[in-house]
Amino acid sequence: MTRQVVEGVSVPTDHFIGGRWVSSPRRFETRSPIGWELLAEVARGDADTAAAAVGAAVESFAAWSAMSIGDRAGVLHRLADLIEAHTDEIARVETRDMGFLFESMKQRLVARGALNFRTYADLMVGHRNRTWDAKNMWNQVQRQPAGPAVVITPWNAPFMLSTWKLAPALAAGNSVIHKPAEWSPLTAGLLAELTVEAGFPPGAYNVVQGVGSEVGAALVADPRVRRISFTGSPDTARTIGQAAATNIVPFTAELGGKGAFLVFADADLDAAAHRAAWQYDDSGQVCLAGTRLLVAAEVRDEFLTRFHQHADALVLGDPRDPTTDIAPLVHPDHRDRVHGFVERARAAGDVIVRGGRPVTGSLHYEPTLIEPASNLSEVVQREIFGPVLTLQSFADEAEAIALANSTPYGLSAQIWTSSRLRAERVGAAVRAGLVWVNTFLVRDLTAPFGGCGISGIGREGGDYALDFHSDLKTLMILDDSTE
Ligand code: ADP
Repeated sequence: MTRQVVEGVSVPTDHFIGGRWVSSPRRFETRSPIGWELLAEVARGDADTAAAAVGAAVESFAAWSAMSIGDRAGVLHRLADLIEAHTDEIARVETRDMGFLFESMKQRLVARGALNFRTYADLMVGHRNRTWDAKNMWNQVQRQPAGPAVVITPWNAPFMLSTWKLAPALAAGNSVIHKPAEWSPLTAGLLAELTVEAGFPPGAYNVVQGVGSEVGAALVADPRVRRISFTGSPDTARTIGQAAATNIVPFTAELGGKGAFLVFADADLDAAAHRAAWQYDDSGQVCLAGTRLLVAAEVRDEFLTRFHQHADALVLGDPRDPTTDIAPLVHPDHRDRVHGFVERARAAGDVIVRGGRPVTGSLHYEPTLIEPASNLSEVVQREIFGPVLTLQSFADEAEAIALANSTPYGLSAQIWTSSRLRAERVGAAVRAGLVWVNTFLVRDLTAPFGGCGISGIGREGGDYALDFHSDLKTLMILDDSTE
């Protein structure tokens, strides 16, 4: 098995298939956003790797799906215990590999990874099949594990997002083939090691490393796969969706957003401005971020003054340093993509209110605010996934709602107001899968999670994800059936 020491932690860099570490002759480099130094050469899977991983998942499905729910939940809780026990190592590796702020990773995201497994283990244990009598018939809806599931994850919060998607698939009784993103592949190897210690049967959790268009495409095209769960970009979802259609496989997709951040005149302006500056967190590499600041015209100037005060206080730096607020972007290609949006906005006549440049000598990008010339400006309509916000104002509630609903996305929205009635009214009118009022990110994991429009297909979260990963069966027994 090939391993590499990263940030003092020995990390496996091969595929994990059928409970064994499997190498590939071809490798790909993963580098750190912190100094762009080479961290590891990771196995680069191909069509044969994909076929082997699906084969292992098919083989293991019988045993994993037949395990009693209590036993399977026990394994998932043991994995959660192990994640908690290894928090420091997981956070160190992810910070170096992806550039996530270490403290935030340690306190929030690794803990959330453990919670993802606990939540789904508990939901399975607590689940009761729905039964009822009707038409002289006893009816029961049963959840049957669907079969091997492919889980494809993005680079922006690899550990937390992977566990969020893996937990329901595994809890439902499906074996899984996980394809991590090539820009941040390392913590998947750590997770695979922990599944062994937790007592997963070989092949229940498989990791295939490599490039999306190569091994990812081969995985989703395999007709033995019975579910595909994807988080990434709309373009990749279109490609994967075609493979899912060919094989008639249910497919969920979470595809990012262009969240409206609505500030009404009756809002606590300082709280709203503070939270608006917080949308730069993780350098804006967050699908849920409220990147379009939509502010009531009469408070626009006061809001902007306060926003600048909060944004000025943000410290750009090394994500390992606890005083850092803004980490580097994940990759030079991504930095160039973010800057491309800003350059085109500048050329098109949008006003760069603050920032607007890459930082020399690092992969940081200045926290940027743009006042677009029009609502059709590219920076308003397309997801940038960097520390770039737009500022627009509205005259009244109707215009606020119209602006909020004017992009092809619909993942999240935030409403800042002191009026409960307005919150309910506007909350009902905005097109988004998740709407926060006077807060952000806090969420019950049993609630549905997903977007409208090109933000995605289907819902994750709670029973929604468990239903997705199951074949629902209705059993009907005639009341007078006798033996
Ligand atoms: P992003 O823009 O966030 O990088 P992508 O959609 O390109 O989003 O990538 C998200 C995940 O999808 C990654 O793990 C990537 O390797 C994978 N991927 C990319 N292309 C394909 C494909 N054709 N088939 C399957 N997976 C893919």
